[in-house]
Amino acid sequence: DDTVQGLIAQTKNERMAYDSYRRLINMFGDVVMGVDHEYFEEILDSVKKKKGVKLDTELDVKGLKEVVEGYKNLVREKAGKPFPNEPLEQLRMAIDAVFKSWNIPRAITYRKLNKIPHDLGTAVNVQTMVFGNMGDDCATGVAFTRDPSTGENKFYGEYLFNAQGEDVVAGIRTPQPINEAENSLEKLMPELYKQLYAIRGKLENHYADIQDLEFTIQNHKLWILQTRNGKRTPAAAVKIAVDMVEEGLIDKKQALMRINPSQLDQLLHPTLDPKAKKNVIGKGLPASPGAAVGKVVFNAEEAEDWVHKGEKVILVRTETSPEDINGMHVAEGILTARGGMTSHAAVVARGMGKCCVAGCNALNVDEAKGKATLGDVTVSKGDFLTLDGSSGEIILGQVGTVEPKLSGNFGTIMQWADEVRMLNVRTNADTPHDCQVARDFGAEGIGLTRTEHMFFDADRIKAVREMILSKNVEQRKKALAKLLPMQKSDFKGIFKVMQGLPVTIRLLDPPLHEFLPKADKEIEELSREMSVPKAELEQKIENLMELNPMLGHRGCRLAITWPEIYEMQVQAIIEAACELKKEENLDIVPEIMIPLVGHVNELAYLRKLTEETANAVIAQKGVDLKYVVGTMIELPRAALTADEIATQAQFFSFGTNDLTQTTFGLSRDDAGKFLPEYIDKGILACDPFVSIDQNGVGSLIQIAKEKGRKVNPDIKLGICGEHGGDPASIEFCHNVGLNYVSCSPYRVPVARLAAAQAVLKNS
Ligand code: PEP
Ligand code: MG
Repeated sequence: DDTVQGLIAQTKNERMAYDSYRRLINMFGDVVMGVDHEYFEEILDSVKKKKGVKLDTELDVKGLKEVVEGYKNLVREKAGKPFPNEPLEQLRMAIDAVFKSWNIPRAITYRKLNKIPHDLGTAVNVQTMVFGNMGDDCATGVAFTRDPSTGENKFYGEYLFNAQGEDVVAGIRTPQPINEAENSLEKLMPELYKQLYAIRGKLENHYADIQDLEFTIQNHKLWILQTRNGKRTPAAAVKIAVDMVEEGLIDKKQALMRINPSQLDQLLHPTLDPKAKKNVIGKGLPASPGAAVGKVVFNAEEAEDWVHKGEKVILVRTETSPEDINGMHVAEGILTARGGMTSHAAVVARGMGKCCVAGCNALNVDEAKGKATLGDVTVSKGDFLTLDGSSGEIILGQVGTVEPKLSGNFGTIMQWADEVRMLNVRTNADTPHDCQVARDFGAEGIGLTRTEHMFFDADRIKAVREMILSKNVEQRKKALAKLLPMQKSDFKGIFKVMQGLPVTIRLLDPPLHEFLPKADKEIEELSREMSVPKAELEQKIENLMELNPMLGHRGCRLAITWPEIYEMQVQAIIEAACELKKEENLDIVPEIMIPLVGHVNELAYLRKLTEETANAVIAQKGVDLKYVVGTMIELPRAALTADEIATQAQFFSFGTNDLTQTTFGLSRDDAGKFLPEYIDKGILACDPFVSIDQNGVGSLIQIAKEKGRKVNPDIKLGICGEHGGDPASIEFCHNVGLNYVSCSPYRVPVARLAAAQAVLKNS
């Protein structure tokens, strides 16, 4: 209180002194003594109401004194001790609070302060205040040296007369623009604006980056309080980086390091209108970015029907399976209750560039009743839902979205990234459309085509089921013969889009039960078509069920028992390539990939089968065609015996989804239930299905690389798990010395930039 009297004596401005005093109690009470800012707001509002004024600037000395008294009582009540009156005590407590916020014990810091360089952030700066609340020749404001939302090279900021501290951002009065308006600083205090403008240039020249600065004007004198690098939207980041190279402030390498690759995703997908109101009812994993609005449906068939009728839908499932693929295709977005970041829904949605929120545990889906509950909210079929795939938010009702716009600057950054990076960037794509999207984003080939996705169209699934449920080889071959022309035309479509770029096609991988009919009606239909009694079919389906299907009869194991499946697929691949060579003179070198190999003998057996089949087709077609055979490394045993496996493989592709699953012994489809708690509790730094676990899974990759290259120095090494689109994992792949990463189409730009940054960070 002495200080307040001193301030009044010195400034002859009693109002300003009490205004400053109430601000001190508020800010100190909140930041240092832990009393929530909201309580202070309540008191201020009630005094304003009592005095019949709207703005805090309209409160007179009496009113402000009342506020001060109210604040003091509040602090005493909430903090359990009075607001300290001693300036030195205040100073000590304030300094402590700053150190506490950095988690640094004061004793240590005080002792070492002189030895630690201050850029480590271990020094507290104590400085004299200036006041923007001494009257109408005073003001306070914040400014960005460029527009932080568009990146435009234009001075941008807001200020308030007779205000202090956080007033501008706190929204208590509407701030005024610093320029280009009647009530701007530029118009009303032109001299000071000129000074501020000059400082803008000086700061940018010095820091060579967009600055976010705070200023105060005290009795017509300008003071800069602080400056720091400005936060910016992804679009602004790209524009500022390119502009600053053109302006000579930074070089191309610095520009590349200025952009956060993960943020690029946002540039490629629609986002929620940031100004819109949102009724968030829950949260799941942000499995695939973008924003989606539509009416809720609970199965894939409904999704297709509704979309056919012109509706936009959100597909809500407990979890998705390959059967849902067509429903996923037509949906605006996908929401699941189960599954992690590499669950089926997440992987497929990302591949389609479609918004997906996965693994929302609180969600209970009752498909039969056409209802889902999330906390105490019930969502029925047909209700509108909005999803934010970048934050995982689930929002009731419709929220507006903003479409992405790609600027020329984006292309420039990508081109600069390509000049620097050493890793090739391929894509995971299963359809000609996805291949085209990926090529437009700069993909240099395909690292993974999952052939199973081609089996789910209505006209194919029957033949697939026939194949699985057939009694003998003859029957199976007959069913496979139906699939052959379809697979061939799929591959032709993909090869055509890729125009001779490398294409890796993986032979059938998932456990067979994923293809089997579940509904009674479907089983009946199939029994009629196959002329097999229903009971017999049911028995067969039962026999195919497995307790741990992901560790069961899948991947190459399918072809060890039923070689006809891979024979058909190889035939389709090679015929497609031969025909395109003849028809369009397209030179294609198919890369045939065998999944889930754990022992070299599995690969040796299937490689022989592949080569015999391929060579027979080539001889029959009379075309000079090259092809290569390789394998995925997605089991720990494969990594540990990579020297043996490399004798049979021309390439390795690390399937880090399964490799993570099998190394951790952690189900990729269920871990979403509890992994978030691992992250919250700091047991894992991040989800290992998102970013490679470098010590564990990474060690296996390192071992496999060394063992593989020792036996076969030219072996091509890539990664096609979801980690191939994660910037930290891409840096890891660069450092290990892989040849390429492969990721979903929409992540190709992310990977191009991350691969360039990996070079710059490690050179
Ligand atoms: C993998 O396991 O990493 C992989 C790419 O295969 P999928 O995700 O299809 O199992
Ligand atoms: Mg796999």
